[in-house]
Amino acid sequence: MSKSHLLPIFSPLPVCFQKGEGVWLTDTQGNVYLDGFAGIAVNAVGHNHPRLVSALQKQVSELIHVSNYFRIDLQEEVAAKLCEKSGLRGCFFCNSGLEANEAAIKLARKYGHLKGFNEPKIIVFDHAFHGRSIATLSATGNPNVRRDFAPYLPDFIRVPAGDVEMIEKLATTTPGICAVMFEPVQGEGGIIPIPDETMRAIRELCDRHDWLMILDEVQSGIGRTGKWFAYQHSGIVPDVMTLAKALGGGVPVGALVCGEKAYGVFAPGNHGSTFGGNPLAMRAATTVLQIIEDERLVSNAEKMGQYLQEGFRKALKGVPGFVEVRGRGLMIGIALDRPAHQCLAIGLKHRVLFSVTAGNIIRIVPALNIARREADELIERVTAVVKEFTAATAK
Ligand SMILES: *Cc1c(COP(=O)(O)O)cnc(C)c1O
Repeated sequence: MSKSHLLPIFSPLPVCFQKGEGVWLTDTQGNVYLDGFAGIAVNAVGHNHPRLVSALQKQVSELIHVSNYFRIDLQEEVAAKLCEKSGLRGCFFCNSGLEANEAAIKLARKYGHLKGFNEPKIIVFDHAFHGRSIATLSATGNPNVRRDFAPYLPDFIRVPAGDVEMIEKLATTTPGICAVMFEPVQGEGGIIPIPDETMRAIRELCDRHDWLMILDEVQSGIGRTGKWFAYQHSGIVPDVMTLAKALGGGVPVGALVCGEKAYGVFAPGNHGSTFGGNPLAMRAATTVLQIIEDERLVSNAEKMGQYLQEGFRKALKGVPGFVEVRGRGLMIGIALDRPAHQCLAIGLKHRVLFSVTAGNIIRIVPALNIARREADELIERVTAVVKEFTAATAK
């Protein structure tokens, strides 16, 4: 192969895809793969959804970008839908997950300043992943992601994920706390759902101390867990939520969504974005949300999530090296007892796509419209991969 002109940041697998259809991807050699990964939980309505394709084609031919110097009616449409589904009050649009989290961190700090804190502090969790900018990296827990990029921003206080007691103690020992920020189901950290009672306890602490409860739903949001947003499993509402990944169905779209308590914190000029919320991005988002609603994909995610989780449990029971299946809806982790990166190449051989996260977790996050026969096929292929891998690496 000739010399690459790309920075050596990624180590892509030796496969290049040419077209997709639902949960199926075809590579340049004509091989067809079952996609259990959906571009890192992005392609929520699958590949090449006819409604998304025609809506985008039409939008491209009319208007792609104008900037936020002008009113963009489509932003109101998407924001109204997100507020209706979430119970929150207003949105700011950007282009990615880290940008949404960056905005949330700025908003939390300003919330602190309005309360008279000069150095407002944000509580974050171990194993958290919030992005790779300096601020979101500082909020991120994974030492492998952080290494070599010090100094980090100060005033993030890290606690073990979901440690309510520790958070309660911080309230009395540490002045200047303005927010608690975490993922309701940790994604990159290894598909770790935060228990409902913990969600409610943290909501209560945030109310009692007038902190913002900020939920990073970049991966868990937009129907993936079998509710529109993962916090809806625990019957609470956050003050701030961040979204990206699935929101644009593959077109880059991020959003900061605020409840009443956070709605008025940013004043004109406090934040901005050149591309954020442009007509192309908003056409993608409004169409994806409408498809999810019309095709009842949130309840499909719940049903197929349960079906897949039970199916994997049954198929992998007794396989040496298999530890457990965990997750929520279609955000599924298969934990093995050993580093599992080799599974990716074995997956290509079996024509099935997934990722490996946190070293030993096979992550399955397929499109929300996966059908039962495709789920059966996914169970069969992933099980074959795990069996081949664990046999080859037998302890
Ligand atoms: C992917 C992810 C991010 C970062 O999103 P980017 O669009 O890659 O910046 C942030 N938080 C969570 C929970 C994510 O899964």
